[in-house]
Amino acid sequence: MNRVKNPLVNLTASRRSLVILVVTVAVAVFAAATSANHSWGSYHWARTSNPFTIKLGDNVSSAWDSYLAKASSDWTSSTVLNTTVVPGNTGGARRCPATTGMVEVCADKYGQNGWLGLASISVSGSHITSGTVKMNDTYYAMAQYNTPAWRQMVMCQEIGHTFGLDHQDEIFNNYNLGTCMDYTNDPDGGGSYGPSNVSPNAHDYDQLVTIYSHTDSSTTIGQSVSGAPAAMGDIDFEGPGQWGREIRKSADGRLSLYELDFGNGHKVFTFVTWALEAKGEGRTH
Ligand SMILES: [Zn+2]
Ligand SMILES: [Zn+2]
Repeated sequence: MNRVKNPLVNLTASRRSLVILVVTVAVAVFAAATSANHSWGSYHWARTSNPFTIKLGDNVSSAWDSYLAKASSDWTSSTVLNTTVVPGNTGGARRCPATTGMVEVCADKYGQNGWLGLASISVSGSHITSGTVKMNDTYYAMAQYNTPAWRQMVMCQEIGHTFGLDHQDEIFNNYNLGTCMDYTNDPDGGGSYGPSNVSPNAHDYDQLVTIYSHTDSSTTIGQSVSGAPAAMGDIDFEGPGQWGREIRKSADGRLSLYELDFGNGHKVFTFVTWALEAKGEGRTH
């Protein structure tokens, strides 16, 4: 969301001015984040108290189980939310239909359609009502992406989107921030890339505290949604024509955000992580 990596704090400052400085930075970061990414950043699960628990439905093959388990435990380190891996409800359906009140995680050979991973959330007003995560096994069968670091980063990032988190950085060839919410050409890190990008960092946990600092009078967790069109839960994500309008794209075109509006405050947002190969194919996305 924000591009601020390490606010320079003058260690010789008095304790009072240090506190003021930190608060000012936090407010500035939040303001920048909401103004730049408000279409995604204000969405959150409704719940009446913290911490809350989001179920992650396991519809993935055994090749993904350890990555799903680590992503779940990494995000559970948050003070405001927990996740738990439960049996999935999709019945192996390729489309990975959503289940209201939770997140379904799927993997399938979706083909050389250009994307490595997708995250989608359904919302009612500002409240998230379901999430889906899809990993494209067509690419993870290729040596370039079939590495623990690529698998872990994309799994962690797509799950992070289902909580309402955005990317911290969308430039691929700069120094890693040490979070799965930072785009990179080298998720393993090392050399000029620095730390690995396979897990959340402190800023992600801080951002979750910001997003979930308030409580709601009702909950969308584990609940069905009244008034939401059934079609919202079973979108064919294999073609961009099904994702609605593109509302944001990174400078190099390797990631995009789409919005599909069903009216009356019911929307589906889809985050797309494009594979490198897509650029050479001249895709329009
Ligand atoms: Zn709320
Ligand atoms: Zn993303």
